[in-house]
Amino acid sequence: MTNIAFIALGSNMGDREEYLMSAIGYIHQLKGTVVEKISSIYETDPVGYTEQDQFLNMVIQISTDLTAFMLLGELQTIEETLNRKRVVKWGPRTLDLDILLFNHENIETEQLIVPHPRMHERAFVLIPLAELQNDLCIPTIEKPIYAIIEQLHDKEGVRIWKQKSGVDVFALLGN
Ligand code: ADP
Ligand code: MG
Repeated sequence: MTNIAFIALGSNMGDREEYLMSAIGYIHQLKGTVVEKISSIYETDPVGYTEQDQFLNMVIQISTDLTAFMLLGELQTIEETLNRKRVVKWGPRTLDLDILLFNHENIETEQLIVPHPRMHERAFVLIPLAELQNDLCIPTIEKPIYAIIEQLHDKEGVRIWKQKSGVDVFALLGN
């Protein structure tokens, strides 16, 4: 498999954990795609539009033969399948799937921007991502993740909700 991508998952409606786990199951079934690593699940205070419930957030690492644009299309289909409602911009949703990084590429188009444009200021993305690869450098920022996290102000709003365990990953992917 040729490409390595990191994907952020978030949910703050309904059975949040179930939405995250179902999404990972669907991603693992995509053609030429393997879920390689998953972070712990974090509970996080909403950012931006704050009159909404707390989120569960996590990050996964995949390897895939899909291009970044094909991957975006597949993730949007999974969002639709899992009944995402988009009522308010940055408001409540059953499921949000964002491509954080795709190899070390810079992509700037109308549909897709990678690295994800707001990832470097979001503790709820960087903290789970650091769990997978602490010294990862985000293209265009070229500073390791742990150094960016040190400078963030809203870290208290991101708390471990379910610690990752090897057994969980195993059970999740059903093999
Ligand atoms: P947000 O994730 O910012 O809360 P949405 O999930 O509603 O907002 O996404 C809005 C649009 O963002 C999508 O239609 C998609 O085309 C675009 N987009 C741009 N870059 C990315 C990316 N890296 N990952 C996912 N979607 C992206
Ligand atoms: Mg999104």
